[in-house]
Amino acid sequence: MSKEQDLQCSFCGRKKSETDLLIAGMDAHICDKCIEQAHGIVEEEVAEAKSTSLSNDLILKKPKEIKDFLDEYIIGQDQTKKAMSVAVYNHYKRLLQTKSDVNEVEIEKSNIVLVGDTGTGKTLVARTIAKMLNVPFSIVDATVLTQAGYVGEDVESILSRLLQAADYDVEKAEKGIVFIDEIDKIARKGDNPSITRDVSGEGVQQALLKLLEGTVVNVAPKGGRKHPEQKFIQVDTKDILFVAGGAFSGIDRIISKRLNRQAVGFGASLEDDKIDEENLLQYIIPSDLKSFGLIPEIIGRLPVLSYMNPLDAKTLRAILTEPKNSIIKQYTKLFSMDDVAFSIEEEALQYIVDKAVQYKLGARGLRSLCEAILTDAMFELPGSEIKELLVTKEYAEHKLTNTTLKKLKAAS
Ligand code: ADP
Repeated sequence: MSKEQDLQCSFCGRKKSETDLLIAGMDAHICDKCIEQAHGIVEEEVAEAKSTSLSNDLILKKPKEIKDFLDEYIIGQDQTKKAMSVAVYNHYKRLLQTKSDVNEVEIEKSNIVLVGDTGTGKTLVARTIAKMLNVPFSIVDATVLTQAGYVGEDVESILSRLLQAADYDVEKAEKGIVFIDEIDKIARKGDNPSITRDVSGEGVQQALLKLLEGTVVNVAPKGGRKHPEQKFIQVDTKDILFVAGGAFSGIDRIISKRLNRQAVGFGASLEDDKIDEENLLQYIIPSDLKSFGLIPEIIGRLPVLSYMNPLDAKTLRAILTEPKNSIIKQYTKLFSMDDVAFSIEEEALQYIVDKAVQYKLGARGLRSLCEAILTDAMFELPGSEIKELLVTKEYAEHKLTNTTLKKLKAAS
């Protein structure tokens, strides 16, 4: 026998003649079968390491802790903060399920839909949750979904933003949160599909449905389609948490109609529970979304439904100073970086709130109002001798001319 034929795999002992391939190392040999087996072991180990690193990266807190965190940044909206805390907790518990758990009871996704006027904090809630969990977050507008009924380029753009937020780490992106704004804009118009059928609205909803259910989407890598030679990145949406938000303007009429119907129905007297006509959103139920024009399949894929309360003067006043990164705290910080001690009188704060209410500027308007009042100071003070700024009501009134207010109103 020649020496060549004596060679064998140092791992399993197979002779060279019994293998398809025998690779030589320094003092040992390995056969194709052992390579395959070793490769399998490596893959399993890597997958395991990744799943534990996910649980490490992900700061999973109990619902009450999540709510506490939200309280630091968001004023009021308790019912939504509670619903979100539970939904997010369950969502991430679902992600931490092992394969054998899934065979027993598969926990379904708890995508969320938030209904409330613009500027009431829908995006803020979703963004704050993402910040707490340390997962990638992206905001997209449902109105970009214009293609009729298939998962195509538009859906891809939703995910490419998430991928960007995840620094192109696909695994991270697949556990991220996507906020879909203006979901109400893709509703079918009218409640009767046979008469006022709005095919495109429904087609768009079908495209979105696929995304919510979980699908693999080919996303163009960095640089988009300018570099066709680059391979597409495949992103699976099954574990992405979707938070949809919309103003659903006019839905209060739908709710009111339903409540009145119920009130006259048998055994459904609402006599004792007086309806709060000022805030009908609090009575919202999924069927109202259907009456508004969302297809039942979409509603089914957004099982957590919550609403945002309108912001009254008291809430707006609190928003100015109470959140951890409130607008006033931010200005104080900005001025302090130039060694300027900034303060603002209560009356001036109240004046800002009054103008926000009077001109219907909402919470977003608070920032524009402060900006208009403080721009001159932020321009003049850095590098000057002045080391203190006290904003009184008179100062605020003086800086906020009617022209500025009208401009703000027009821009809102
Ligand atoms: P929406 O998504 O409902 O249109 P946003 O979440 O974008 O509203 O809110 C706009 C801004 O208003 C936020 O960035 C935040 O500064 C402020 N804001 C709105 N609601 C609240 C709230 N409840 N608590 C604190 N800030 C709020």
